[in-house]
Amino acid sequence: MSPENNIETSTSTRGVPFVVAVDGPAGSGKSSVSKAVAAKLGFAFLDTGAAYRALTWFARRRGVDVTDADAVVGVIPDFDYRIDAEPGRLLVFVGESDVTTDIRDPEISARVSAVARVPQVRERLNELFRDILGSSDHEGIVAEGRDITTVVAPDAPARILLTASPQVRAARRAGELDGQSAHDVAAQLHARDRADSQVTDFMTAAEGVTTVDSTDLNFDQTVDAVIDVIQAARATHAVPPSRGGTDA
Ligand code: C5P
Repeated sequence: MSPENNIETSTSTRGVPFVVAVDGPAGSGKSSVSKAVAAKLGFAFLDTGAAYRALTWFARRRGVDVTDADAVVGVIPDFDYRIDAEPGRLLVFVGESDVTTDIRDPEISARVSAVARVPQVRERLNELFRDILGSSDHEGIVAEGRDITTVVAPDAPARILLTASPQVRAARRAGELDGQSAHDVAAQLHARDRADSQVTDFMTAAEGVTTVDSTDLNFDQTVDAVIDVIQAARATHAVPPSRGGTDA
């Protein structure tokens, strides 16, 4: 993995970024909500699922059967991953290839759980995520995934589990994907949830994690509910000494 793995950010502040950890199942809206929350607060954004997807894309490109854990582990050293955060969009690269669109392909969605269950993959990607969280030059960073509140950043000052009913999640995901029946989308989403929940528990909130249930909320209301949790945490969170108490 290349040393330049990082989110390229545009704002410069000093000190330890305020980390917001968001977990949730597929279709809970955590990605779009987290992105909007980060934009509103002027925070950086880290989509951890994109890294698992990009590694799946890369393994496939190398001709690896992703159900073969040893073969997946074999490609990790060559996985050159980079995210460029631009206002309003996030570009994902593997080497020179822009994979931003390809990693959302249903074929990748169907295979990513097999890659994500390999312990060495999780170990390596978690290191990468912690590097990104620690080195962001924004005042804060919103990181979303499945195990951010519990494994990647269990000490984050704001930790949120974003949920929604299975029916609402399937309907939202079907709306995002053209050309697939709602029935097929629901079946794929629930299969992925089942596979993923064997590795991480993202259906129940760990101690200290606030649940935001978006079943009956629209997008803007969900964004506001998440921001409320973050502002409450900021009000009680001690400012790290390195920040000098000026801008947290
Ligand atoms: O969030 P998204 O649907 O893009 O995640 C893709 C996949 O990456 C998940 O289905 C899961 O297998 C894996 N993942 C994970 N841990 C994370 C984020 C994603 O295992 N923190």
